[in-house]
Amino acid sequence: MIKFDKLDYPKNGNKIEIKDGQLIVPNHVNIPFIEGDGTGKDITTAMRRVVDAAVEKTYKGKRKIEWFEIFAGEKALALYDTRLPEETIKAIEHFIVGIKGPLTTPVGEGYRSLNVAMRQKLDLYNCIRPCKYYGAPSPVKNPEDMNIVIFRENTEDVYAGIEWEKGTENVKKMRQFIEKEYGIKLPEDSGIGIKPISEKCSKRLVRAAIQYAIKNSLPSVTLMHKGNIQKFTEGAFRKWGYEVAIEEFRDFIITEQELLEKYDGKMPEGKILIKDRIADSIFQQVLTRTKEYSIIATTNLNGDYISDACAAQIGGLGIAPGANIGDNIALFEPSHGSAPKYANQDKVNPSAIILSAVMMLKYIGWNEAGTIIERAIRKAIKEKKVTYDFARLFNINKELKTSEYANELIKNIIKES
Ligand code: NAP
Repeated sequence: MIKFDKLDYPKNGNKIEIKDGQLIVPNHVNIPFIEGDGTGKDITTAMRRVVDAAVEKTYKGKRKIEWFEIFAGEKALALYDTRLPEETIKAIEHFIVGIKGPLTTPVGEGYRSLNVAMRQKLDLYNCIRPCKYYGAPSPVKNPEDMNIVIFRENTEDVYAGIEWEKGTENVKKMRQFIEKEYGIKLPEDSGIGIKPISEKCSKRLVRAAIQYAIKNSLPSVTLMHKGNIQKFTEGAFRKWGYEVAIEEFRDFIITEQELLEKYDGKMPEGKILIKDRIADSIFQQVLTRTKEYSIIATTNLNGDYISDACAAQIGGLGIAPGANIGDNIALFEPSHGSAPKYANQDKVNPSAIILSAVMMLKYIGWNEAGTIIERAIRKAIKEKKVTYDFARLFNINKELKTSEYANELIKNIIKES
């Protein structure tokens, strides 16, 4: 058994194993969780209560989650003197599947993102963010048209953290190098960042997106990029994306060009359409032609932007779940941040982390428990028993606290026939 320094190995339950590439999930399973900063405590507590109720209702004691707290962010700083202890990474690697609340990152100064560091250290290269309508009030006319899963590359792009601040010795060296080697003179008062986009990381992301489309019988995968301007990074992502599609999935896909040239614009039965869109254009397309998009596979920064924009159409960040998945390890988390201004007010919407847990339940094969939670959320929204964010959109005065909303979901789960 693995030894931890400050964590007590769970006394009950068993860990998930991987055998021949398949997850072996025990009925009494250990799941590590990170509470998160800011509103993390409120939403993670709500999530665990709702998940426990759904698992109990569905499996009547035959299956159970043994939650196991591990630490990052403020809580880790207090316990380990660092915000991202190695032991936390080790625990996620060991237990294979985990869930986390949001972690704070200061803007423009201070320490680098712990979220990004975790994704990079654990090589969780797919960030999967489904945007599906659960009946929440929405600023658009047909929010039910939104059913898009975003596959965001999670390890490189400008998130690689390679940048130098204006006025430092490092930025000066970089400027001199660029001028000497490439004859390009940059303004003395600039900061410089580097955007690496690799063939390997682009291809594995697009590969996972197409595999997901095949597994879930989805109609299309759209490569989102800014390749008209950033030709050798974003443009290359597009090129490598098509290469993966054609070289590895020839029998499953057709490209948009083939659709027009060979099929007269009529989609052949059972094939997945691979198309691409320039980033700026797709922001209006997801609003005006929402139904035409099913999976969007994209680079890291584009993925961050487009997932929040899609979430806005289905009620906002309060209901936007996500997962970070690598070859073996999966770490589920909401799309939103720690919303520090609402910390410890028992106020924010826990649906995003609860739906992240639904993704986790489905990932480990406990689909029925996940589905029962989704129904509970739909019912609560339909009855306008919601937290402040949806109450604001519904234009009603009555809003539930985070914990009251969790109570409502648990009530719905228990009442299920
Ligand atoms: P944020 O925490 O996502 O909050 C932005 C706004 O989104 C909130 O003010 C609130 O809008 C709405 N919102 C967020 N969570 C919500 C919830 N659970 N229920 C209802 N509404 C919710 O973004 P931020 O303020 O830009 O970032 C705060 C910190 O989180 C930063 O340090 C950032 O780096 C970090 N962050 C972490 C992650 C992560 O852990 N993966 C992701 C993103 C950001 P209203 O005020 O309009 O109600």
